[in-house]
Amino acid sequence: MRDSGNVARRKSFLGKKMFNGEKLAAELWKIAAERLHALVPENIYEQWFSSMQPLRLEGACLVLGVADDFFAEWVENSYSTQIADALSGIAGHDYEHKFEAGYFPQQPEEKPEAVAEIAAETVPETLPEFSEDSFARPGSTRVNSNYTFANFVVGEENRYAFTAARRAAEKPGLFNPLYIYGNTGIGKTHLLHAVAHETQKNNPQMVVRYATCEEILNSFVESLNNHKFGAFRSQLRDVDMLLVDDVHVLGNKEGLQEQFFNAFNALYSEGKQIILTSDKRPSEIAGLEARLVSRFEQGLTTEIYAPGLEVRIAILRGMQQDFMMRFDDEILEFIASRISSNVRRLRGALMQLLTRVSLDPDMPVTLERVEYILHSVFEEEFTSQQITVDEIQKKVAEYFNLRISDLLSNKRPKSIAEPRMVAMYLARKLTTSSFPQIGSAFGRNHATIMNAWVKIPELCSKDEELRRAVAVLERQLKS
Ligand code: ADP
Ligand code: MG
Repeated sequence: MRDSGNVARRKSFLGKKMFNGEKLAAELWKIAAERLHALVPENIYEQWFSSMQPLRLEGACLVLGVADDFFAEWVENSYSTQIADALSGIAGHDYEHKFEAGYFPQQPEEKPEAVAEIAAETVPETLPEFSEDSFARPGSTRVNSNYTFANFVVGEENRYAFTAARRAAEKPGLFNPLYIYGNTGIGKTHLLHAVAHETQKNNPQMVVRYATCEEILNSFVESLNNHKFGAFRSQLRDVDMLLVDDVHVLGNKEGLQEQFFNAFNALYSEGKQIILTSDKRPSEIAGLEARLVSRFEQGLTTEIYAPGLEVRIAILRGMQQDFMMRFDDEILEFIASRISSNVRRLRGALMQLLTRVSLDPDMPVTLERVEYILHSVFEEEFTSQQITVDEIQKKVAEYFNLRISDLLSNKRPKSIAEPRMVAMYLARKLTTSSFPQIGSAFGRNHATIMNAWVKIPELCSKDEELRRAVAVLERQLKS
């Protein structure tokens, strides 16, 4: 750990470069606190950790403000391992921590933006006994205050989704449901949270419920175990606006689909806005009942794409401003050009760079150094560009002039069953997914995939046309 003189010198140097260590400390603590939340029971978290304030970074040591020495000592004795775990491996670095007394919890009204308020207001008062459920917990930080329309950089690739989301917030019920789909890390959750903020701002009386489909699934299972099914139902239905993230999770969950279908119909018939996000179109979700596919498609369905280079650079510039930090344009362009598929990864890369540079501020930031620091992120990006099972399904369906829903169906005619097997075979051959993983992508079990794996080469040896089709598809997918 550095002495205070060192810290002072460091501060002045960083000040010159407009580096804001407080902001970085806050960012680090955000990540660590989220981890701690998962590591300790809820009441312990609330009692000891929720009031801690990230003050600054001293080298690789995060300084946390607490009320008094007693508090600091107690937490250190009881939870030092958990805190160390939570602070390890953030942006490729393990952080130490220390406490500073004299910082009392902030009053809620001092908070700049009412994140917790939104979540609290979304909980109908009729459900007090259902407090264990994370998707309705009062005061939970379900809605991220940074995910606003103002913070969303718009380009050709995401303009349509952005505009549709904003309209839905301005005029709830206009497009119902609004269904936004696209790859991971490109702004779907951000837009959903932005709708929640905007709606709540314009119509404070409205009950807006945001939940990931995973959370709804957990609630559902819990409600069956606890015999509190009525409460679960009402969580989905006693709302004015329902925002559900990642609805592809519904695939193959029949019980939940039934509930979702009923809730959807009830809300829809009352003109309540429903917004759904997913990584696929409704018809491409394996194991999603046809009646839900048609409900999901009856409003506005729009794809969001990974943003282009200009937008990616603008996103990095925006982050720089937040951190009061400046890298040369050349550096930002370099990172943005190397990470094109996923904004989450792009932001993570800049965070990682900021952290590493702040640890060694005297060293100039050259392209070589950036390449060295971000080597593993660039590699991750490269690997992610590899072929996915979804792409294989899409390509195979296109080639044989089928819909993806046919490929995923149980239909048996040879004209559908054979392409289906080709897709399964290519998925095994060209991706690193296991038989069971591929099985679930097709809504089948692993034995079906193993069967296709053996069968396709056999069929190809007798059927020249099929052999050619498999070869062409393989070449196209690899290019
Ligand atoms: P998804 O839900 O599609 O997986 P997220 O909405 O979680 O992606 O986005 C990942 C991260 O990238 C978030 O931090 C989000 O704020 C940021 N992000 C994505 N698109 C944009 C954009 N156009 N402008 C600003 N930030 C963005
Ligand atoms: Mg998301």
